[in-house]
Amino acid sequence: MMEDKRGTEVWIDPEAVRANTRLFRDVVGSQVKVMAVVKADGYGHGALRVARAALEAGAGALGVATVLEGRALRDGGIDAPILVLGAVNAGEAEAALEMNLDVTVFHDAWWEALVRAAERLGRRVRVHLKVDTGMGRLGVTPAEALQIWVPRIVNHPLVKWQGLMSHLACSDVPDTLPTRQQLRQFLDVIEAIRASKTALPPDIHVANTAATLRFPGTHFTMVRVGLGLYGAVPYAGAPALTPALTWVSRVTQVKRVTPGFAIGYHHTYRAEADETIATVAVGYADGYRRALSNRAEVLIHGRRCPVVGRISMDQLTVRVPEGLAVQPGDVVVLAGRDGAAEVAMEELADWADTISYEMLTSISARVPRHWDRFQS
Ligand SMILES: *Cc1c(COP(=O)(O)O)cnc(C)c1O
Repeated sequence: MMEDKRGTEVWIDPEAVRANTRLFRDVVGSQVKVMAVVKADGYGHGALRVARAALEAGAGALGVATVLEGRALRDGGIDAPILVLGAVNAGEAEAALEMNLDVTVFHDAWWEALVRAAERLGRRVRVHLKVDTGMGRLGVTPAEALQIWVPRIVNHPLVKWQGLMSHLACSDVPDTLPTRQQLRQFLDVIEAIRASKTALPPDIHVANTAATLRFPGTHFTMVRVGLGLYGAVPYAGAPALTPALTWVSRVTQVKRVTPGFAIGYHHTYRAEADETIATVAVGYADGYRRALSNRAEVLIHGRRCPVVGRISMDQLTVRVPEGLAVQPGDVVVLAGRDGAAEVAMEELADWADTISYEMLTSISARVPRHWDRFQS
């Protein structure tokens, strides 16, 4: 396949993923498993490569959002446990079983389809029961879990009860009360299961990245780490992780303009003085969001250059600081380090009024990923 050579690329450092995985292993200790969450193509980094690096560094399981994401990992030769964190509907049950994926259960009809598929194929299915303790998204109520779901799961011969799980809504905000309330509910469910003399499943898990770092009481027997694997900052003041991704583009044109010269669609920027403007080969179709227009900064030769004018589909324009020599072909760092300078993904997210999760997963398929540390 011909590769895009325009020079807009993402570089991913496998050692950063391994180092971050080891950091989480150290945080939780040897008794707790780390699930590496690689949904959405590994938060835009490439799920298979990230999965391999995380498993090399001691991750014990993988998390994906969809059956198809699980299949891509199996097709890539991964045989570690893979949990589909999202819904597996009736039409997907058989594929999930054939791929030996663990399934999150919470809906009667899809449970029925899953069990029927297991009977048809003569295979055991591993399920994780999801309890909604206050996220309001997926999951059964604590009462439903105890009265209907636990008996149903433990009594079916083709079902292996692998996990009990919940998800936290507010683990990354300063107010800890919602997390403590959710944890209380989850602990109550565990207590009630114990009291009924039912054996708990091996994987008990609620914590994402932020909870893993901030609330040791949420570790149970497994944590589900996504964002932190990639080295993005889960909340202000978090322990230092290593960003895995560097996003670069190239200068395509450099011009000198005079005061009042207008730049880009709708002329949202006019030169205030004699200025140097560089055009760069990246735009919102690559995931460099239009909301960054007239707000973001990029690095050229380690110097910050403000984005001026509207970001277009495939191009943007920056003002080059006076005295900095720039020419077509020069590297532009959009996110990551350039010598001593850095634009963090969190800064980009702030400028675009969003979160680093969305910035990372917005980098489009048009941008080639290279699995190596970027050297400018
Ligand atoms: C995405 C996801 C995670 C990982 O969250 P991070 O904040 O990226 O660590 C964990 N659990 C579930 C259910 C998820 O969907």
